[in-house]
Amino acid sequence: MSPRAQAPVTALRARAYTIPTDRPEADGTYAWDSTTLVVVHAEAGGQTGLGYTYTHGSIAALIETALKEAVDGADAMDVPAAFAVMQRAVRNMGRQGLAATGISAVDTALWDLKAKLLDVPLCTLLGRARDDVPIYGSGGFTTYTIDELTEQLSGWVERDGCGCVKMKIGTHPDEDPTRVAKAKIAIGENATLFVDANGAYTVKQALAQASAFAAYNVGWFEEPVSSDDLAGLRRVRERAPDCMEIAAGEYGYETDYYRRMLNAGAVDVVQADVTRCGGISGFLAVAALADAHHIDLSGHCAPALHLHAACAAQRFRHLEWFHDHMRIEHRLFDGAPMPKDGRIAPDLSRPGHGLTFKEQDAAQFAA
Ligand SMILES: [Mg+2]
Repeated sequence: MSPRAQAPVTALRARAYTIPTDRPEADGTYAWDSTTLVVVHAEAGGQTGLGYTYTHGSIAALIETALKEAVDGADAMDVPAAFAVMQRAVRNMGRQGLAATGISAVDTALWDLKAKLLDVPLCTLLGRARDDVPIYGSGGFTTYTIDELTEQLSGWVERDGCGCVKMKIGTHPDEDPTRVAKAKIAIGENATLFVDANGAYTVKQALAQASAFAAYNVGWFEEPVSSDDLAGLRRVRERAPDCMEIAAGEYGYETDYYRRMLNAGAVDVVQADVTRCGGISGFLAVAALADAHHIDLSGHCAPALHLHAACAAQRFRHLEWFHDHMRIEHRLFDGAPMPKDGRIAPDLSRPGHGLTFKEQDAAQFAA
């Protein structure tokens, strides 16, 4: 324990939950029928902070052993110090991937805890650059029928006021132009269609599809090729129609990943996920990098957990209102934000990030 600790961390608990999707889901490179949520609670000074991540359930064990040992007695007021000690604790098992998701959840819990100890909303503790954040509806899985696809996308526009909505492509490349055309007709002229190939295409395929999609004013082409192919992303970015931005970054687990992606000129907008990239601490580091590269940042999935950090990020575009996570957040967390005119805002009457986990409701999903 730090001898000067004002609020030493006294407990760290993690639990995994597996929640079935409402329908089978797939994108260009993956298919799933459930989502695993790992929830973390951290205690200090009579308060409890909450964090979570969407990952594999096995990470709960790592959190309750190596990460718990690392932050035991750490000062909840000094989150950067706890972040550093967690990074060192996982050095020999690899900082990226699973370990990073665990660190992300703990870091978020510690930021929530500190804000609660100070009795302020997390966005007040971080300092706000804006009062609310635009969202874009995201789902449109390749398993959906055309009717399911168009109903979901138009719902986000008509019901929630989203100016942009995103669909998955790449499972059946021959069908993509038709599905994109039907989706565009359904959302109307005033909304912008985004597509996400999850790295399913080659550079040549992606460029051919980009030409076809331009007829439907597709404004965002996410992971047209693998995010690991930075030169390929850059080639697509340089040759895609001017109306179409290239986006990637959801698999970033550390700041170095974003430095390489931004230095390569691979994207028009960079995406980061607070449940993977190092929690609030990692997300704000990516935000600073994006700002220094004059590139906008967009939050990937987990919209409720991103909200306060998104309000603090200097150069922030929008948050992904992802079907699976929005569904889980509204079912299992009190305080999950509701969209109004295509935006969500922090509840300033609640300390921390304002979310409370409904353990009893979640018990049936315990892994
Ligand atoms: Mg994506």
